This record gives sequence, structure tokens and C-alpha cells, in this order.
Amino acid sequence: MDRNLYNLPKNDPSFFARTEKAVAYHAARCEAYEQLLERAGYTDRTIRSYDDLYRLPSIPTLFLKNHQMYSTNPRMAVFKATTSGTSGKKSVAALDLGTCLSALKMVARVMSYYGVISPVPVNYVVLGYQPNKSNELGVAKTAFGATLLAPALRRKYAIKFEDGIYTPDIDGTADALFRFSRQPFPVRIFGFPAYLKFLLDELHARGIRLTLPKNSGIYLAGGWKQFAGEQMSKPELFEYARDILGVPPQRCYDFYGAVEHPILYASCKCNRFHVPIYSRVLVRDAATLEPVPYGTPGLASLISPLVKSMPLVSVMTDDLLVMHEHCDCGIPSPCFEILGRASANDLKTCAASAAELLSK
Ligand SMILES: [Zn+2]
Repeated sequence: MDRNLYNLPKNDPSFFARTEKAVAYHAARCEAYEQLLERAGYTDRTIRSYDDLYRLPSIPTLFLKNHQMYSTNPRMAVFKATTSGTSGKKSVAALDLGTCLSALKMVARVMSYYGVISPVPVNYVVLGYQPNKSNELGVAKTAFGATLLAPALRRKYAIKFEDGIYTPDIDGTADALFRFSRQPFPVRIFGFPAYLKFLLDELHARGIRLTLPKNSGIYLAGGWKQFAGEQMSKPELFEYARDILGVPPQRCYDFYGAVEHPILYASCKCNRFHVPIYSRVLVRDAATLEPVPYGTPGLASLISPLVKSMPLVSVMTDDLLVMHEHCDCGIPSPCFEILGRASANDLKTCAASAAELLSK
């Protein structure tokens, strides 16, 4: 067991030092970032505590969708990704080789903590986009990357790329799953929660109940986006998957990450995302941006010194989340739950939506 991955107090001094260094590094190389820090009145740039992390200006992801900021030449990037942004705005993350290698090491460590890396060959069902050369969607790349964590026998994609366009293929995916269930190898299902629900609905409509081979698992990431009307809670969806596919909820995982903050958060058995030593997550009041105590929802500053090619040391997403200091699962670090997406156009509305979400 990797005892240090979630031991934040032990890691704090080194994290603070590396974050301070990262801010100085980006401020020296990216003029727009230096200007942003100056305009925010950020003069004392020492980082020795969580209070110092809160003082560090956090760049809203909405700002990054309109302004590309680079600390190294973006042409040197080995990985480029855009987000599928519901508003149509796309943000490009251009990551250099060093950053990609650090990110891969981090992903491997988190994945092995959850037992996702395995030498046993598996059949993959990817509930997402089939990759193609012109596809720069971060989700397609991560979904493909996920299929490298255990040797692949077959990969079936639920969103096919054919004749230059993407088409959903829920029927074909249900057929593939049926075939895989008759083979002796574990099945791994990766992708968006809405597509898992559509797939379960399809099997249910056909009157099919499967028992996927031992050690099969479900790995979800991303929100419901345009399918918000179909939304189920994660525990409900995992129960539905147990019913139709015979995969126990303890083999069902949820992952959280963002193109602007390439840190992998995996859900624990209590369906919460624990903060690993690679990042810190600080929640702020949606209206005042002041720190809020554990248990109070708000906007989060996601902090990590990992990315070298862009000044993404502290970014603020428009996800509304709530942090907890302790969790029943036994993982020692603080953890968060995502309550939904806040309206980033008007931060003041976030407070209202927080109240609304809480009253549900
Ligand atoms: Zn937990």
C-alpha cells in the first residue's frame, strides 16, 4: 500500500516550496501571468502555508478559454487538448514532454493505488469518442490512454468515427458487451456516466442481464452535460450496473480531472475524491472568493506546480464543490464532492445555485 500518496501533512513543506518556485518560474517566462499577478496586487510571493496558497491568484478556466498563456513555446508541446465546452469555447492545454512524463508518473501511481494497473489482458468498452488524428478532445485522448493500463484484447468505442463524423453506437456496444461477457477475460468499461446509463437502458430493454467475468470494472469520468435530464446519482448508477452487468459497486470508480489541471482524482468507496500529494484543493465563497470552512460549498482553486508549459499553478473551475476533512473510507487526506456546475459568467449566481443544490 502506498502510504504517502494521500499523506498531505508530510508533503506540505515540499509542496509549498515547489509551488512558490513554479509561480516564480512562470512569472519570469509568461508576461501575461506576471501582469495578472501584479494587477491582483500579489507582491509577497512566499508560500509557506495554506493561507499563502489562498493568497495566490487563481486563474478562472473561463479566462483561459479566451486567453492562451504559455511559459514555453507551444510548438514544443507534445500533447495538445481541448475541452468539449458546452458553450462552444474551447481551451487548449499544450503540455511539454517533461510535464507529460510527470503527469504519467502521477497517473500510474494513483491508478496502481486503486488496483487499475494490471498485467491481465482485458476487453475494453470505451463509452466515449474513438480517437482519430484530427481529434484534439482531451477526453478522447484520456479514454484511449486509459486502455493502456492493462493489455487490450479488443476495444469497442460507443461513439464511432466513420466517414469523418462521430455517431453514437449504443446497439453495437451492447452487442460487444454481450460477446465479451462470454469470454474468460475481465471487461473494463470506461467513459461518460450518461453513456453508461444508455447502455444499461439498452440491455435492460432487450431483457439482458449479464454477469461480467471476475475483476471486471467500471471507470467513469465527466459530467452529464447535455443529458442532465437523465442524471442519476453515482450510487444509483452503480447499483443499476450491478443489476444489469453483475459488477459490484466496489469495482466501480469515478474519476475527476480537468484539461487545465491534469491531476487525477479517483473516487473512494464513499464516492468522494481525495486530494493526492500532487495538488491542493481550496474552496472559496462563490461571491467573495474568501476561504470557506469544510462542509461549505463554493468554487475551488485547484493548485499544482506540475505543469511547466503554461502558468496553471492555481486555476479556478466553474464546478461547485464541497470539501470534507475526514472520510469513512480510511484515506487520510481531505476529500471533495462535486455538486454541479456553477454559472461562471456571473459569480454571484453561484451563491444562489449553491443554496439551491443544498436544498435538494
Ligand atoms: Zn473517502
